[in-house]
Amino acid sequence: MRFIIKNNKLIMQKFFTEDSLKISQIPAIPQPPPDSNYPYNHDLQKLLTGKQFLLDDIPFQHDNLQDHYENGYITFRKGIDYNGKKPICTRCGNKDPQWFAVYPCARCGETCLYCRHCLMMGRISECTPLFGWNGPVPDTMLPLKIMDWQGTLSKGQQAASDKVVEAILNKQELLVWAVCVAGNEYIIFCVKNSTRFLRFRRGSRFALLTFEQWLV
Ligand SMILES: [Zn+2]
Ligand SMILES: [Zn+2]
Repeated sequence: MRFIIKNNKLIMQKFFTEDSLKISQIPAIPQPPPDSNYPYNHDLQKLLTGKQFLLDDIPFQHDNLQDHYENGYITFRKGIDYNGKKPICTRCGNKDPQWFAVYPCARCGETCLYCRHCLMMGRISECTPLFGWNGPVPDTMLPLKIMDWQGTLSKGQQAASDKVVEAILNKQELLVWAVCVAGNEYIIFCVKNSTRFLRFRRGSRFALLTFEQWLV
């Protein structure tokens, strides 16, 4: 994708034009402030809040996204940024030159540098903008019934569960390392169901990562 700058705003270009630039060539990305009277799309809000997406991941029309940007609700971020002449992948943080490569890019019509390190999540290149949300966060509704597990944790599982709850309450990072079949899913259940955790959960956001995807 390429952009032109008009009235201190970026305009997405569907096709190559001589006066357009890759996003990595724009020194500072202009960001209009959110217009409180703008009727923003709530589905787009839910999709983008807290995330940085590629255009391919967003099922909305170009014009709609452009309109949201111009009214201050969408941010554009460089997929590949430069520290002097050294490229950095904004998504995965890769700075190692060995993990970058160049290719003739159909999207910007030029040779484009891309990150090989996070290629599995969709290609990030010099002409790739990452889309983010710049408006209010959506209201989250708690489900009336939360999945439960009636059981007792072992001593080790209980210690891990307590540590996770404690880390969440103290807004800290924590990595729990547990071998396969250590009962990781029971630990996650107990974290989720902890009353302290449920109280804390209202109005707060955090990341809980687990291999047990069906639990979250
Ligand atoms: Zn390109
Ligand atoms: Zn990357």
